[in-house]
Amino acid sequence: MLKKSGNEINISVLEEVYDYLSPGNHVISAYLLVDGLRTSKKDYLTSLNSMIKEKKTSLDESTDLDRSQKKKVASALDKVKAYLSEKFKADSTRTVIIFASTDGFWKEIRLPFILRSRIVIDPKPYIQSLRAYLKNYKSYGILLIDREKAQIYSAYLSEIREYLATFISDVPPRVNYRSQSVLREKKILSRHDEKLHHFFKTINDRTLELFREGKFDYLILAGRNAIVSGFNNYLHSYLQSKYIGKIDAGPDSSINLIKSKAMDIIDLYELKNKNKLIDDLIDEYNPNGLGVLGIDAVIKALIRDQIRILIYDKNFSHTGYVCRNCNYLSTSPIESCPYCDGKLVYYNEIVDEIIENALDQGCEIVDIEENERYKKAGSIGAVLRYMYER
Ligand SMILES: [Zn+2]
Repeated sequence: MLKKSGNEINISVLEEVYDYLSPGNHVISAYLLVDGLRTSKKDYLTSLNSMIKEKKTSLDESTDLDRSQKKKVASALDKVKAYLSEKFKADSTRTVIIFASTDGFWKEIRLPFILRSRIVIDPKPYIQSLRAYLKNYKSYGILLIDREKAQIYSAYLSEIREYLATFISDVPPRVNYRSQSVLREKKILSRHDEKLHHFFKTINDRTLELFREGKFDYLILAGRNAIVSGFNNYLHSYLQSKYIGKIDAGPDSSINLIKSKAMDIIDLYELKNKNKLIDDLIDEYNPNGLGVLGIDAVIKALIRDQIRILIYDKNFSHTGYVCRNCNYLSTSPIESCPYCDGKLVYYNEIVDEIIENALDQGCEIVDIEENERYKKAGSIGAVLRYMYER
């Protein structure tokens, strides 16, 4: 079983942030990279303080806000600063986001991946790159089947997210066959089978509908072995290709038990997929010119807007230089930016810059952990949209 990071994203908090609307108020969205492998508390607080200072200066100069609004925003900024410096402990969190509004709305989200540190002050929460990153996470349908009843749930971001539907069969309750003649028993049994056949067909149709509505990407079956394998024969070929595993569970199994077994199947499935992607990148895409390996090749491909999937080791960190004007990246020092002639500034960490730029370009982001083969190949790479003549 894979270890859990302890900072799974709480979906209801996420939805509250997505839905937040309070006209006339301002929201501070403070993103802070706190990953212990890349930065120290002292360094991230220094970076936080300079971001806050900068925001306060431009707040003073702003003509869009009146004095009372400015005062409220400044006090919310102070609250964010006080919380992060005095109360917050990073633990295994890689990026923390605080959403704080001038009407008292306060949400903290801890992410198991890195995003660029920044503070945005807007009438709405700034969620663009967060949303883009989370789009990479798949959702899983968990179909729990019994002879009379079937239920389907969806799981997303390590949480049972949503109850989708219940299907009920009109199969009559079990009959005490022993007290009946053999002939009659056969008759009832076949009627029973027919009902079950009908029920399985209904479950398949309804599940297929949910899949077509985009309610889940992959499917897990749960139930007693005999029932699940019986139902498997009814599964539509589309669903068959999305089926990733089964859970042995009785009709009364608790949702927590099913959830924990589902998470094991999901973790294993995702790990297998990611490892395969890395093997394909190293063995096929890279030799064929449809993939790149190593930070310099990735930066080059990023500048050419060539990346389809960016794949990086969560623990990979690299220093570099970033153009002040246009965000041009380089791992080695250069006089001036080749695009805009701007000045390049030294960064302790540029992997978060690479990820943000890739998100801006609409790339898929895949993060991996503990793949030795990938570490040897450079810990970062990409599958490209098209081949480039080298
Ligand atoms: Zn530049």
